[in-house]
Amino acid sequence: MKKDNNSAGKVKNTERILDQIALRKQAPLGIYAVLVILYVAATVVVTSTAGMQGEVSMFGVSLTIYSFAGIFSALSNIFIMLIAVHFGKLGFFTAMTALVVQFPMILVGIFVKGNADSLPGLFTDFFTLIAVIIIYLNNMRIDKAQDKLRDQAVTDNLTGLPNRFACSELVNDLIRQGEKFTLVSIDINNFKSINDTMGRNAGNEVIIEIASRWKNAADQESSGTLDFVTRQSGDEFSLIIRNYSSEDDIIKTIKHYQLILEKKVTVEDCDLYLSACFGYAEYPTDADNSDSLFSSADAAVYEMKRMGNSNNILRFTPELLKNERSVEIERKIRAALVNDSLFFNLQPQYDISHNLRGFEALARMKDSDGTMISPGEFIPVAEKAGLIDKVDISVFRNAAKFFGELIQKTGADITLSVNVSVRHLMKNDFLDEIRYVINTCGVPADKLEIEITESIMIDSAEKALVCINELKNLGLKIAIDDFGTGYSSLSYLINFPADILKVDKSFIDKMNSSESSKQYVAAIISIGHIMNFDVISEGVEEPEQLDTLRSIGCDYIQGFIWGRPLAPEDAEDLVISSMRAE
Ligand code: C2E
Ligand code: MG
Ligand code: MG
Repeated sequence: MKKDNNSAGKVKNTERILDQIALRKQAPLGIYAVLVILYVAATVVVTSTAGMQGEVSMFGVSLTIYSFAGIFSALSNIFIMLIAVHFGKLGFFTAMTALVVQFPMILVGIFVKGNADSLPGLFTDFFTLIAVIIIYLNNMRIDKAQDKLRDQAVTDNLTGLPNRFACSELVNDLIRQGEKFTLVSIDINNFKSINDTMGRNAGNEVIIEIASRWKNAADQESSGTLDFVTRQSGDEFSLIIRNYSSEDDIIKTIKHYQLILEKKVTVEDCDLYLSACFGYAEYPTDADNSDSLFSSADAAVYEMKRMGNSNNILRFTPELLKNERSVEIERKIRAALVNDSLFFNLQPQYDISHNLRGFEALARMKDSDGTMISPGEFIPVAEKAGLIDKVDISVFRNAAKFFGELIQKTGADITLSVNVSVRHLMKNDFLDEIRYVINTCGVPADKLEIEITESIMIDSAEKALVCINELKNLGLKIAIDDFGTGYSSLSYLINFPADILKVDKSFIDKMNSSESSKQYVAAIISIGHIMNFDVISEGVEEPEQLDTLRSIGCDYIQGFIWGRPLAPEDAEDLVISSMRAE
């Protein structure tokens, strides 16, 4: 990076930090020390063996001791070159010093001790010196080109600020060193409207002005902390805050940058007043790695944008990630509805003698990487976002169409259950949609069953009842789903025109662990029968649970023990094979 000195002649903060990021690329100084030691050791061997008389025998061959001097002299030159190649200026001066010192030593050998055999050493030393100078000049040329490349790699073209790459390099360095710091994500408010109304050039001028003000502040350490400002993209910036002692210091620094931003910006004779959202997260308190630190700070900014809180500062909390995930899932549901890529599975339901009663249609959605998003995650999001009616009707339509064809093909006498959210049930066009599906799918109405979750229904019983009676008039069956998880009273059950109770899995799970839990399930089944409902137990997994349910008079079973949710083709195979078995 270009050394742009301030008035005090001191290298500015931003440049100094960028240089520190780059320093890591040089070979470690430990290797330098090892090479120097090896060089000194090889030189000592050369001087002590040069001129020595006598022979040694190796592998049956006799060698003069003097010949070892040649080998170690070559080695010492290799070490010197390695130092010159890998350690820049330091390596060059070390190599030059070593070689220059060698000259008089060789000359003393030749002229004082009369050792003429050292003459080739003089030439080797001379040529090594030339090679080191060439290496140095070449390294300087490469370094210059590399500096230029690095400048481009770490600098944002428009503003000259460090860019996204420099930011993540510094974050990774600080994490490696275990230093506490804070990452602030900054998003300028309404920047798009400046671009739209005044044009991109004016927008660029605004960004350049903000960047220059913030860079000065970081360079002069005017906030009282050690700061590093980077431009991420468009109107998004990041600020890394270091050397602070408390949360108050972080807020003080962010407010400092906020105040600088809020000062009037004049572009094309227009006075503009800017503001931004600042979301921050601290390493290691809020996140323990670079990825999660960035997404935590971003989550805080998005939360502020979502709340329309345009000029504020927010620290990351784990709650925010949940919101972010919800927003992402909502986007995926919307896309799946547009592409009609929501699909369904069919989980078989059996009577207690293991004869197929029918299937429950369960919504399924895939993530972009092909993994499944569980309905436990996306159904509540769809409910909150007001999309549940679209999800329900998409599953209902597709499942009913498939089921109509299946019944026509096989003549099977089976029921299709679909889940309907109470929020959907209350919508004015709900009954019209149901009528449309019944008229078009080819499934007799009495083979269609609507599952309504007990706990939600109680809250809105009055209005729900009107709808449910209408559904009954159309000939559909009604199931109370997840029975036992709400607060059903007997009087409520008596008035409720349901056909079937579905005992929630949580009761089936506990049923065999204590006698009282078993009695509780037995009581639910008895009450259901008294009210004239059939009872189906959900989530049956163990043979012991099946035995118990048989002994206490349960009518139907839905659970992994007899069948997991199946793709429609597999459900079709199951229907065909169960009809053959009859
Ligand atoms: P649910 O309606 O009570 O559906 C039964 C859930 O229990 C299904 O989970 C099923 O796969 C699971 N299950 C059944 N037997 C076993 C078992 O033996 N062991 C275990 N561990 N699980 C079992 P899934 O498919 O994840 O659905 C969860 C919930 O999402 C459903 O509970 C339902 O409330 C909701 N849902 C699914 N599809 C739709 C839909 O199209 N519309 C609406 N509104 N809600 C839906
Ligand atoms: Mg259900
Ligand atoms: Mg259920």
